[in-house]
Amino acid sequence: MTNTPRITVAYGDGIGPEIMEATLQVLHAAGAKLEYDVIEVGEKVYQSGNLSGITDEAWATLQRNGIFLKSPITTPQGGGYKSLNVTIRKTLGLYSNVRPTRAYAPYVKTWFPDMDVVIIRENEEDLYAGIEYQQTSEVVHSIKLITRMGCEKIIRYAFAYARANGRRHVTCMTKDNIMKHTDGLFHQVFNEIATEYPEITTDHYIIDIGSARLADDPGRFDVIVTMNLYGDIISDIAAEVAGSVGLCGSANIGDNFAMFEAIHGSAPDISGLNLANPSGLINAACMMLVHLGQGEVSARIQNALLCTLEDGIHTGDVYREGHSAAKAGTREFAAALIERLGKEPKRFTPVRISTDKPIHLKPVERRKSVMQCVGVDVYVHHDGDPQSLGHALEQAAAGILSLKMMSNRGLIVYPERVADGQLTDQYRCRFCASVDYTVPVSQDAIMQLLMAIHGAGLEINKTEFLYTDNGKRAFSLGQGER
Ligand code: NAD
Repeated sequence: MTNTPRITVAYGDGIGPEIMEATLQVLHAAGAKLEYDVIEVGEKVYQSGNLSGITDEAWATLQRNGIFLKSPITTPQGGGYKSLNVTIRKTLGLYSNVRPTRAYAPYVKTWFPDMDVVIIRENEEDLYAGIEYQQTSEVVHSIKLITRMGCEKIIRYAFAYARANGRRHVTCMTKDNIMKHTDGLFHQVFNEIATEYPEITTDHYIIDIGSARLADDPGRFDVIVTMNLYGDIISDIAAEVAGSVGLCGSANIGDNFAMFEAIHGSAPDISGLNLANPSGLINAACMMLVHLGQGEVSARIQNALLCTLEDGIHTGDVYREGHSAAKAGTREFAAALIERLGKEPKRFTPVRISTDKPIHLKPVERRKSVMQCVGVDVYVHHDGDPQSLGHALEQAAAGILSLKMMSNRGLIVYPERVADGQLTDQYRCRFCASVDYTVPVSQDAIMQLLMAIHGAGLEINKTEFLYTDNGKRAFSLGQGER
């Protein structure tokens, strides 16, 4: 019986094999307790006709070992190939994407020497649920899917991460001034969970000004938790302003699985030339060691990495004539780091790992509330004017439900047109039993209504039921609706 963890390793494409080779040498020299199985993913698998970039056998290995250290892969353009990263994140339930980004000033050039921010991005939901439809010749919809469970998991993870790593402030970023239900839920859950962590201060930024501040003054942020799409964008902004994409690692964490990788891609332009900076993957491997309870080994490696940078041994992406002492290739950089294992940096603050345990969250309690249907939005394909459609619908719905309003591209066009925008060929037609949405609407009434609209020769292409949640309106009003 051995308690040495067995992980899965993929060498990936482009510079992947070079930086993985360097990383495994560093892990070995630092005394990491690891065994590993190597799987093939990426370009070669795609080229063999497998559209997902991963074989069933490799899946089995991943699922058995639980922990995955992955080099970047090249995703072929077009041709129906699926992004392997998105597939792995969703299939293994890797709900949290953790990306620490710090400055290495004055050794690596940056405008922001105080930058030290961790972005924690929700990884499974939002527009990345990939639910999109074309409904008419002109109209496509994408579903922004947010669940209370998803919000709770990622936000609680962010606070637990802050506490475990001695961080004091968590910022939430959303766009809840516009998306009051989806982003509003994320912000509301953030406020609720913040009360469980009284020692951590918090604030909230609307994502647009938040991103601008992150680009202009990243030193003001500590931990940022945000939704999938915003997190994708701001974590690249953060990496870019910190110095080099070659330096950052990331962790994708789930309840039972975790994947660690550099944030950059396979860099085909420098592949095979011994030019790549292996620090991103080495930093990712250090996060993996903490996750595996080997925080001490992780700190040893991180301190040796800081010493290497302090000594001016730099790969080409961060090398500066006059500032750096030596330009190192991938292999030479790894060898220099290995030589410095056991040393602590003089100018950088040495790394102390404050936790030796991975963060495990209690399962989210399912929420129960009283959901009452109070209406329905029926989407109708119509090329003509709104008045003729409105009259036809009023006639069809007579005695069943009332037509409260119709909107086109979100703007109300019936009973009165409140704005002058150009119209498209899909109308959202809102029916209810009372204009203040206090009277319940039965499923029978909705079915009758749909049959009546169909019977009037109109083409329905989507419906959305309108609910109250514990008596509170749980849908947005049309722009201009009262
Ligand atoms: P990239 O990150 O590979 O390269 C962008 C630039 O940064 C290039 O100039 C490159 O030389 C440089 N660079 C990247 N990593 C470096 C390192 N470690 N050291 C020194 N310089 C480095 O981005 P790209 O060119 O847009 O993408 C190339 C391929 O990588 C694409 O096929 C893309 O789909 C894939 N990709 C994979 C992942 C992943 O597997 N996680 C992530 C992003 C991109």
